[in-house]
Amino acid sequence: MRETTPAWVLRRVRWSESSLILTLYSMDQGRISVMAKGALRPGGRFHGMLELLAGVEVTVSRREGREMSTLTDVSLIEPCNGLRADPEAFAHACLLSEWVQGLFMGGESAGAVYGLLGTAFSTLPESRAKWAVTCASVETMLRLAGHGMEIDDCVRCGLPPEGSETWSHREGGIVCAKCSMPGETAVSKGILEFIRTCRKSGFETASRTRLWKGGFRACHDFMRDFAQAHNQSGLRLRSLGVLEDLEHGAV
Ligand SMILES: [Zn+2]
Repeated sequence: MRETTPAWVLRRVRWSESSLILTLYSMDQGRISVMAKGALRPGGRFHGMLELLAGVEVTVSRREGREMSTLTDVSLIEPCNGLRADPEAFAHACLLSEWVQGLFMGGESAGAVYGLLGTAFSTLPESRAKWAVTCASVETMLRLAGHGMEIDDCVRCGLPPEGSETWSHREGGIVCAKCSMPGETAVSKGILEFIRTCRKSGFETASRTRLWKGGFRACHDFMRDFAQAHNQSGLRLRSLGVLEDLEHGAV
């Protein structure tokens, strides 16, 4: 079976002297693993086209029952030079790539996730509020992965909460004052408001929202803890450490 689809390069692993194994996120099939033979051979026809986070159009062939496809053709459609010129934007994009790899195993919502990555990758280099872009992207991803956070009705009694509210990651969202138990932690009003903005006003408005200093990082970690309570395969967000170093001027 041979198929052609646009895709983002999410991960590159060196397989041999000249070959790479790629994790791609494709518009048509979602996440796929591809063997790119000869990709590292200077002068080879794939050489230089399969950089991390590049947007490409690939033709892959797959034998029935095999997990790994073989790359037969590639053309570069979006080199993402903006990301490559800005280390912080690049680290945010890598973080989003790790989120996608943690949340999506196959082709669920493939077109929407593919489109979301494109929007985030083009917005990040120009944005002054990169954490807002990242948080708005993650909030959308959680919904596309079927792990939307319940922010309107209490997850225990189903009624709209009034007054002080707490939160249960495990149960999926907000808990009203009547149902909350001693020791449960309050949820930040600012984070709830941001999630509402994401849903009501969409990505573009949400990615220009402001929170308190450190607020978006707190919002990101809140969503990470939420995802971890619902996702068995686990999230590996190694880019967080890179971002911290960049933000503290250690690089
Ligand atoms: Zn309740």
